[in-house]
Amino acid sequence: MADNRVVEGRMVTPRKLAELVEGESVMDAEGIEDADRDCPECGGDVISVGYMPSVTEFVTAYKCQECAWSETDR
Ligand SMILES: [Zn+2]
Repeated sequence: MADNRVVEGRMVTPRKLAELVEGESVMDAEGIEDADRDCPECGGDVISVGYMPSVTEFVTAYKCQECAWSETDR
């Protein structure tokens, strides 16, 4: 699965990445993409994933691959 990425030393699927940021299970997640930005905490590479926490909501999450930093476009 080429879509998987290493985040904080663990291989994650798009769905797992979305759940890491959301803090609970999500309904659906799109593919992981490279975000054109660096982590404000450690300068590491930031990746993004679009996901649906519920039927009516679509959120884009940003997550550092090196540390615990994350944010969403909510
Ligand atoms: Zn970081």
